[in-house]
Amino acid sequence: AEAPVGAGRFAPSPSGDLHLGNLRTAVLAWLFARSSGRRFLVRVEDLDRVRPGAEQGQLADLAALGIDWDAEVVHQSRRRRLYDDAIDRLTRAGLTYECFCTRREIQQATSAPHAPAGAYPGTCRALSATEREEKKASGRPPAVRLRAATDFFTVHDLLHGDFTGIVDDLVLRRGDGTPAYNLAVVVDDAAQGIDQVVRGDDLLASAPRQAYLAALLDLPAPVYAHVPLALNEEGQRLAKRDGAVTLADQRALGHTPAEVLGRIAVSLRLADPGEPVTLPLLLDRWNPSLLPRHPWVFETEPARR
Ligand code: GLU
Repeated sequence: AEAPVGAGRFAPSPSGDLHLGNLRTAVLAWLFARSSGRRFLVRVEDLDRVRPGAEQGQLADLAALGIDWDAEVVHQSRRRRLYDDAIDRLTRAGLTYECFCTRREIQQATSAPHAPAGAYPGTCRALSATEREEKKASGRPPAVRLRAATDFFTVHDLLHGDFTGIVDDLVLRRGDGTPAYNLAVVVDDAAQGIDQVVRGDDLLASAPRQAYLAALLDLPAPVYAHVPLALNEEGQRLAKRDGAVTLADQRALGHTPAEVLGRIAVSLRLADPGEPVTLPLLLDRWNPSLLPRHPWVFETEPARR
């Protein structure tokens, strides 16, 4: 029998156009997956922050670079039952609690001198019945949090090695009823057979929380590769305001998608400046050990609009 084929993925949030940093991450996810014989999947993370039309634009941009995927695009907004089931399982196992804290209250608690950076301090973890009734009386619908039994968890990352990061009582469902990103991503990666997660290294710090959650749900943790982000010339994360950073901006300046792919390839040390490239050519040349470990500083031209 053949070994089961795993999958890699790209999981954009349809909040606007992808910029060249996002597109470069998508190219990397595709290269990592294809070079290891995996399937490649696209998942639209549309539980919140959706801008109408953004998804169509994002998928068209991926296709324009030559990125292909092996199954119909999956939408998180249509998978609420899977997330509800996972939260129910955790709740039946006694691993959740309701949290009435406002963002402000959490900020105040976490700015206390000995609070671990970035971790929820557990304010609502052990409320007495009276305290709970008082909080409930505020009328604010509670969030559901995980009752974590550890403060740290270790994941394996192809670029960062073993990475140990904070686990806290993370939110599973927000007060407004929306499943939290950390839960949805864990449930979906497992349900889609994704065993390789390549994404921007701004999410490295979230990986231990996600892998811990997967373990509690008896789901396998994927292997991770958190790749360097694209930065502007000031060293900040690339953003729309930096000028011509989308494929549409680049087109307006007269650059074809193939030329943009060429520029991405140069940044990955897979091509020389000006050399014509295609994605299959980059796959032939792909060698993950050559991947630059530092951010890609993108020199922007002003958008022509
Ligand atoms: N949807 C997330 C984003 O666009 C990425 C999630 C992930 O790759 O795990 O930032």
